[in-house]
Amino acid sequence: MVSVKYQNIGCAYDDFIVVQGFDLEIPHGTITTLLGPSGCGKTTVLRALAGFVEPFEGNVFLGDKDITVLPPQNRNTAMIFQNYALWPHLTIFKNVEYGLKLRESEEQATLEAPWYSKIFWMTKPYYWIKKIPYKIGTFFARFKKSTESKEPPTTYVEKKAAIDKKYDYRRKKVFDVLKLVHLEDQADKLPTQLSGGQQQRIALCRAIVVEPDVLLCDEPLSNLDAKLRREIRTEIRSIIKKIGMTTVYVTHDQEEALAISDRIAVLHEGIIQQYGTPTEVFSDPQTLFVAQFIGSSSTLTGKVVGKNEAILESGETIKYIIKEDIPTGTSVSLVIRPENILLDSKTECPIEYQINTIEYLGTEVKMTGTLKDGTIMLVDVLEDAEKYAKMNVGDNVTGYLIPEEVFVFVDGKRVY
Ligand code: ATP
Repeated sequence: MVSVKYQNIGCAYDDFIVVQGFDLEIPHGTITTLLGPSGCGKTTVLRALAGFVEPFEGNVFLGDKDITVLPPQNRNTAMIFQNYALWPHLTIFKNVEYGLKLRESEEQATLEAPWYSKIFWMTKPYYWIKKIPYKIGTFFARFKKSTESKEPPTTYVEKKAAIDKKYDYRRKKVFDVLKLVHLEDQADKLPTQLSGGQQQRIALCRAIVVEPDVLLCDEPLSNLDAKLRREIRTEIRSIIKKIGMTTVYVTHDQEEALAISDRIAVLHEGIIQQYGTPTEVFSDPQTLFVAQFIGSSSTLTGKVVGKNEAILESGETIKYIIKEDIPTGTSVSLVIRPENILLDSKTECPIEYQINTIEYLGTEVKMTGTLKDGTIMLVDVLEDAEKYAKMNVGDNVTGYLIPEEVFVFVDGKRVY
């Protein structure tokens, strides 16, 4: 298991800077999600770790190793994509085996690299940093007598035995990972003979079979329907946790992020707004963006007009939420979750709205409403659902805010 560190990285496409001064430490063995709206730079940050995007400044570390300029094939990472990216003409077994074979041939290629290919790498400082201790080691090693025969297999029988041994090794590994997703009996099928969910499980197998230091997931569930997404995310999480692999997961779906992650970095325009556990980002948002982006909420905006008092843009006065330390005249944003607006018991913070939509979901009633200035209110009634389900669109209702559950922001930053 390996940790990941982004140190002050900046990434750009030509002149367009996507992220700058980006710092993030991802502990080993955790599933960490980069969460944010489309275009905020999540994939770019992920690609900088995979080696497909080279930062123009800063460093990326895998464990203690600086991998900033290392080519993708020399980083021990594996990626799962949104579109599965399975070979359509290869069976499931061969698709999963493919990565293992590729690594074998990469090892071969490293051994057989011609002398002139080294010239390029000799111009890089890290070539010498790696090479000098290696050269010293091999110089002394020649004085030690080796007990093992280094002769490669020469006869047909020996060569076949060597190939069979490699195949048996790959076959065992492939079936071990297929068993993890309970698809070992589908090994001879083609990808087109599997459902979308099964194909994504195979994509996961193909990534983890090579035992990467870090597993990278780029919106892997976006092509699946909502029910399947929920099922597969639970399965992916339990498999990753079972094998204990460090994982960086990218999504714009906040529910998926909350369900699958150990830690979430919420991004907005290339900047980390908050980094914490799912409970921290949901229950203790530090910026207005995080409060609005994670979970459902209503935002009331207004101005402080005195001790313990603010006037909303809708003209209503809100009391008992504003504390004394916010000066009169300050613009404030109040964010409240739908379940913290009550209809069945009164608090000291009433607010009137008109019902726009109403849905009875058996154990709860979900309402949307508007204040006088058009501000949208989301209200979830969890008690006495049947009673409130009888209300109608257009009814005027008084909801009661729970003051201690309201997040208060000044200039986008949380005050309390
Ligand atoms: P999404 O969720 O839509 O994939 P994202 O948060 O992953 O978005 P990125 O794909 O990292 O965002 O893109 C960040 C910004 O960089 C976007 O404005 C995008 O248009 C731009 N961008 C991404 N790839 C390229 C590219 N190859 N060339 C130029 N601009 C790019």
